[in-house]
Amino acid sequence: ILKINQLKKVFSTGAEDLTILHDLNMNVEGGKSTVITGESGSGKSTLLNLIGGMDNLSSGEIYSCGFPIHTMTEKQLTEYRRKSIGLVFQSHYLLKDFSALENIAIPARIAGFDKKKALMKAEELIEKVGLADRKEHFPSQLSGGERQRIALARSLVNDPELILADEPTGNLDEKNSRIVEDILFSLVEEFGKSLLLVTHNLILAERVDKAYHLTGGVLEEK
Ligand code: ATP
Ligand code: MG
Repeated sequence: ILKINQLKKVFSTGAEDLTILHDLNMNVEGGKSTVITGESGSGKSTLLNLIGGMDNLSSGEIYSCGFPIHTMTEKQLTEYRRKSIGLVFQSHYLLKDFSALENIAIPARIAGFDKKKALMKAEELIEKVGLADRKEHFPSQLSGGERQRIALARSLVNDPELILADEPTGNLDEKNSRIVEDILFSLVEEFGKSLLLVTHNLILAERVDKAYHLTGGVLEEK
C-alpha cells in the first residue's frame, strides 16, 4: 500500500539548506499496522506530511494507495487526501461549532458521500468509539480523550485505505492513551485498514506488524 524509494526532504531556510530526510526507503503492505518511533525533531511528522500529500518532497518516489504521489498535481493530491487517506493528529482539530456527529460526518461529505450515507457512516463510527451518547455534544463539551475518539471516528468516515496517525495520544494521560490506542487498533483491524502510526510509546511498537525507527532523518527497520 506504501512504497517509498530514496526519499529526500530538504528545507531551505534562508541561508542554509537543511536535509531532514536522507534517502529514505520504506515498504508497507496493505492491511498491516506499522509504527515509526524516533526522538523529537527526527523528521517523523515531515515524513507523514509527505506521505499524506501535504508537502512536496525534494527527490525520490512515494507510491501510496496505488498513486505516484511524487508526480501528482495539487488537484490530484487533494482528491487523494479526501478519498484514500485518514488523518489523526496529536491535536484533534474538531470544528468547535459542529456537534460530535457532524464533525465525524464532514470528511465523508467532502469525499463525495451523500448526506444520508455520511450520517449513517458517522453514526456507525460514533458507536464504535463508544460515544453514541455524545452525538449532540460540541467539542468543548467533551473530554480530551473523548475528543480524540471522535477524531479517530472522523479519520475512518471517508473509508480510506491508509490511516496516518501522528502521535494521536501525545496529549493524553496514560489511561486515556490506552483507551484511544485500543480503539485505534480495533477499528483498523475490524475495517481492514492499513495504519502508519507515529508514537513515542515503545510498548505500542510491539503491537504492530512492522516497526521503523527514525534517527536524524535516517530510517531503520527494527
Ligand atoms: P516531534 O516528535 O517533536 O513531533 P518530529 O520527528 O515530528 O518531531 P519534524 O516535525 O518532522 O520532527 O521536524 C524535523 C525537523 O525538520 C526539525 O528539525 C524541524 O525543525 C525541521 N522542520 C520541520 N518543518 C520545517 C519547515 N517548514 N521549515 C524548516 N524546517 C522544518
Ligand atoms: Mg512530529
